[in-house]
Amino acid sequence: MVISQFLASGGLWLNLDGTEILVDPGPGSIVQSTKRKLKADKLSAIIVSHRHLDHSADVNIMVEAMTQGGFKRHGRLFAPADSLGTEPVIFSYLKNFLAGVEVLQEGKSYSIDDISFTTPVRHIHPVETYGMVFTTPKHTFSYIADTRYFDALCQHYRGELLIINMVFLEPRVPSDENMRLPTDHLSVPDAEHIIRELKPKVAILSHFGMSVWRAKPWQIAEKLSQDTGVMVLAARDGMKFDLAQLDNS
Ligand SMILES: [Zn+2]
Repeated sequence: MVISQFLASGGLWLNLDGTEILVDPGPGSIVQSTKRKLKADKLSAIIVSHRHLDHSADVNIMVEAMTQGGFKRHGRLFAPADSLGTEPVIFSYLKNFLAGVEVLQEGKSYSIDDISFTTPVRHIHPVETYGMVFTTPKHTFSYIADTRYFDALCQHYRGELLIINMVFLEPRVPSDENMRLPTDHLSVPDAEHIIRELKPKVAILSHFGMSVWRAKPWQIAEKLSQDTGVMVLAARDGMKFDLAQLDNS
C-alpha cells in the first residue's frame, strides 16, 4: 500500500488542547501535512513507534520543517533505541535542531506540555516497536502500532478511543507460504478480539494492507460495529476525529 500510495502514509497528527504531536511520519508526511495546511513549526514533538520506513521515512524532513530548517530550535523526537542506534532514522546534524531526543522504553511514561503518554509494552514485530496510551486533561486514547497479536495488548491499551493498525484481513502464521514476508501484524479477527476486550467508546482502524483494502475497510468497520457494539470507523486519508465526540458517546 505504501509503495502504491493507494492510501497515504503520512502518520497521525494530534492536536491536544493546542499541543501538536506528529506520530509515525511515513512517506509523504511533508506532502500530506502541507496539503492540509498543518503547520509543522507548531509541532512540539514527533513520535516514531518503530523504524520501519512506513512509519519513519519522513522523520528527517519533518524535523527540518518543525524547526524551520534549524532556525527555530525546538521540539523533541521520541523513538525506540534501535531507531537511534547504529543506523539511526534521524541524521545527526538534524538532531542538533531539536530540544531533545528521548528513547522510548517499555513501561515508561513521558510528558509533552500537559499531555502525557506511556509506552506500556514492547510489541512483537521485527524491530523494537511501541504503541502509546495518551492522557490529556480531558481524554485518554490509545494507539496500537504494528504488532503480532499477543494477549497483553488487551490489558494495556484501555482508553475512550482506540486506534489500531490492522494490516491483514486474515491472520497469517509464519508457516504460511508468506513466511518470508512480514507477518507480524494484526488482522481483522485480532482487531475484533481486542475491541471486545478493551471496549473503547470508539475504535478507528488504520494502516490497511492490500487484502483489507480490497475487502473495503468501511464495510469491515460497519460489520465490526454491529458485531461488537462499539462504534468502529475505518480511517481515510485526511480524516479528522474530534475527541469531543467521545463525550457524547
Ligand atoms: Zn512495521
